[in-house]
Amino acid sequence: RFPGPEALLDGLNPQQRAAVEHSGSPLLVVAGAGSGKTKVLTSRIAYLLGARGVHPGQIMAITFTNKAAAEMKERVSALVGPRANVMWVSTFHSMCVRLLRREAKNLDLRSSNFSVYDADDSRRLITLVSRELDLDPKRYPARTLAVHISNLKNELIDPVEAADRAGNDLERRVAEVYTAYQRRLTESNSFDFDDLIMRTVRLLQTRPDIAEHYRRRFRHVLVDEYQDTNHAQYELVRALVGTGDEDGIEPGELCVVGDADQSIYAFRGATIRNIEEFERDYPQARTITLEQNYRSTQTILTAANTVISRNSNRREKRLWTDLGDGDKIVGYVGDNEHDEAAFVASEIDRLVDTGDANFSDIALFYRTNNNSRAFEEVFIRLGLPYRVVGGVRFYERREVRDALAYLRLLSNPEDTVSLRRILNVPKRGIGDRAEACVAAHAERERVSFAAALRDAADGKVSLLNPRSQRAIAGFVELTDELRALVTDGKDVAEVLDTVLERTGYRGELEASDDPQDASRVDNLTELITVAREFVQTEATAPEPEEPVIDDAGQPVQGSLEAFLERVSLVADSDQTPDAGDGVVTMMTLHTAKGLEFPVVFCTGWEDGLFPHQRALGDPAELAEERRLAYVGITRARQRLYVSRALVRSAWGQPMANPASRFLDEIPADLVEWKRVEPVRSAPTAATRWGSNRSQVGGGDSAQAGLGARGMRSTPFKGWQDTPAMKLDVGDRVTHDKYGLGTVIATDGSGPRATATIDFGTGGTVRLMLIGGVPLTKL
Ligand code: ATP
Ligand code: MG
Repeated sequence: RFPGPEALLDGLNPQQRAAVEHSGSPLLVVAGAGSGKTKVLTSRIAYLLGARGVHPGQIMAITFTNKAAAEMKERVSALVGPRANVMWVSTFHSMCVRLLRREAKNLDLRSSNFSVYDADDSRRLITLVSRELDLDPKRYPARTLAVHISNLKNELIDPVEAADRAGNDLERRVAEVYTAYQRRLTESNSFDFDDLIMRTVRLLQTRPDIAEHYRRRFRHVLVDEYQDTNHAQYELVRALVGTGDEDGIEPGELCVVGDADQSIYAFRGATIRNIEEFERDYPQARTITLEQNYRSTQTILTAANTVISRNSNRREKRLWTDLGDGDKIVGYVGDNEHDEAAFVASEIDRLVDTGDANFSDIALFYRTNNNSRAFEEVFIRLGLPYRVVGGVRFYERREVRDALAYLRLLSNPEDTVSLRRILNVPKRGIGDRAEACVAAHAERERVSFAAALRDAADGKVSLLNPRSQRAIAGFVELTDELRALVTDGKDVAEVLDTVLERTGYRGELEASDDPQDASRVDNLTELITVAREFVQTEATAPEPEEPVIDDAGQPVQGSLEAFLERVSLVADSDQTPDAGDGVVTMMTLHTAKGLEFPVVFCTGWEDGLFPHQRALGDPAELAEERRLAYVGITRARQRLYVSRALVRSAWGQPMANPASRFLDEIPADLVEWKRVEPVRSAPTAATRWGSNRSQVGGGDSAQAGLGARGMRSTPFKGWQDTPAMKLDVGDRVTHDKYGLGTVIATDGSGPRATATIDFGTGGTVRLMLIGGVPLTKL
C-alpha cells in the first residue's frame, strides 16, 4: 500500500537522495537556505516507513516549531495513515513534556500533574524569590537573573555547581537566587522551559533502565535546525541515540540537518559548535552537503551569499539555483517609519491588484516586535488584511492567563505562581497583608504556599485577622469544589466555563462599564471555544499508543493536562497563518526561520535597529545579526524588498538612523532604489545612492565632506547611551569590517570624538566617530 521506494525518492537531487537512503551511521546534512534540508528530513521519514519497514513508533523527529511538526506529521499521515500518530514529531520542549509526564512516577514529584512555567511565570517566581532574599531589584532585575539562570540550565549546571563555580558577586547572587528559585519550583511541582530539557537529560543519564527503554523504542532520531541546539539539547540527543556501549543496544540512527549561517539563537544558549563539531562528536558520521537552492531567484541568492560572506570563520558554500535571475531587489528609503510603511502598503496593494501576488504570498519582517505598529496603522487604514505573529499574544493576555492559572491550579494544587496570581482575583478579601502572612508561614514552616494556605484556613497562621481567615477558608473550599469537577471527569471546556462562573470572574467583567472588559469577556469566550475544539479533536483522534515496548500501566493523560500542555507550549511561529487565510504575515526575523514566501519585505534596515544597537561594538553579536540578515533575505522566493527610514521614533523620540551596513553589503547592481535619501550635504558623501550613510542630524559639512564609505555620522539622539570608548594615539583596535588598526590621531570629545585609524592593508587610513562604530579596543 506504499508507493515503491523509487516513488519516495522522486524529484530529489542526487545528494538529497543519498541523504534519504543513507542508513546506519550518523548523518549530517549541512547546506545553505532553501536547499531542501527540511524536505530531506520529511522524505527520509517517509522512506524509513515506506522502503525500510521502520515502524512509526520507532521514529522521533524534532522540529523547530509545533507547526512544522504538525505539517510533517500530516505529510507522513498522507503516506501511512493514522499510524503516523505514534511517531513522536515535536519540538524539543513538547517532546520532553511528553516524556516527563510518562515518567512522572520516576521523578520524585509531588504529583504527576506538574505545571510548565513560561518566561512570564518564571520571572514572577524569580521576583518573589529575590524579594525574599532582599535583593535590590535595580541592581539585580528579575529579567537579568532569569537570563543567567536560563544560561546555567542550558549548560546543565545545577544550583550546587553554580554556587561552586561562582567567581564574582553577580555569579554568587545568581547562584543564591537559582537555589531558592529551584526550591520554589519543586515545591510548586513545576518546571520552567529550561527544566524540561535539563530534567529529561538528567533522567536519561541517571536512570540507565529508563534510557534503555527509550533507546530500544526510538531507533531513528531526526533533528531539524540543528545549528540552534544548545548544550542541554545536544546531550539529550546523545543520550537518546546512545553509543552502544551502555546497554549493548545498537546506537539509534541519527540524522541532523542545519546551516551554521542560520544560527540566530545564541542568546538562548544555542551554539554553532554542535553542528561544526558533529563529525568529532560522532566519529562514524557521514556528511552530505546540498548545493542546489530550490527556493529563490539568483538575484536573491547572490544578495544573501554576498552578505553572509562577510562573516569570518565560516565554511564557504556554493549554492546555485536554476530559477533564473528574476526581478531586482527593490529598495526604498522613507523619510520616517510612516513613510516607509506607506510605501510597503502601496506596493502590496499594487502587487495584489495586478495579480502578481495574493496577500498570503506576502510577508513583512522587522527586527523587534515593537516595529509592527507603524505597519499596522497603515494596513488598518487601507483595509489590507494582515496578521501579526508574536507580540502580545492571545495566551499572554491578562484574562487568558488568569483563566489558565485557575485551570493549572486545579490540575496541580501546589502551583505557587498560579495560586498567588488568582488568590485575590476577582477580589475576595485576601489582601496583600494576608498573603504576606501566609508566605511568611510557608517560609517558617518550610511548606509550600498551598499548604500554608490550608493552614491559614484552619486558623493555624498567626497574625491573620479573622476576616482574612474566613476569606481564605472560602477560597480553599471553592478550589476543592472546582477540583472535584475534574475528578468527576468533566471535560476541560466545561470545567473552564464553571470556573469562570463560580469564581465570579466573568460576572465581574460583565458588570463593568469599561469597554476593555467587554473584549476581555470575548477573549474568555474564545478560550472556551479553543478548549471545546480541543476536546473534540482529542475525542475523534486519540493518539494510538502502540509502542514497540509495552507501555501498559502508564497513567492515561487527562484532557485538562493535555490542554494545558498544548497552550503552554505555543510558540510565536506556531501562529503563522496558512495560505488559505488570505492575510499578509508580519513577524520578526527570528520567527521567520525555516519559512518561505513569494514576496518578502525586509524593513527597518538601519544601523542601531538592524543590526541591533547592542551589536554595534561587538563582532560576535554583529556576526549573529548578519546571520539574521541572511535568514531574512533567504525567505524570499521571487521578490525581495529592503527598506529603511531616515528618522524613526524610538522610546518616544525621533532618532536619525544611518543605513544598515547590511544594505551596503548587498551588491549595488542587484538593487533598484525606488526612492533614495535626499542629498543634504556635500555630493562626495552620496557616492552610492541609497547606501550612503545618513546625514541627518550629524550631517554637517565638515563630517559629510570626509565621505569615507565607512564613515558613520552620529544620529542626534539615542546614541548617547553607548558608553564612549576612550582612544589614544597608538591604541590597537579592531573593526569588524576593516580588521586590525592603529590609532594615529584623535580629535573632539563625547559623542563627536573621532579617531584617525590606520588599518594597514592597502594603506587604508580612516577617520571615524568613536561612538557607534563597530570598533573594539584591544
Ligand atoms: P531553510 O534553510 O530555510 O530551512 P531548507 O534547506 O530546509 O531551507 P526546504 O524548506 O526544505 O529548504 O526547501 C526549500 C524549498 O525548495 C521548498 O519549497 C521545497 O519544497 C523545495 N524543494 C526542496 N528540494 C526540492 C527538489 N528536489 N525539487 C523541487 N523542490 C524542492
Ligand atoms: Mg528548513
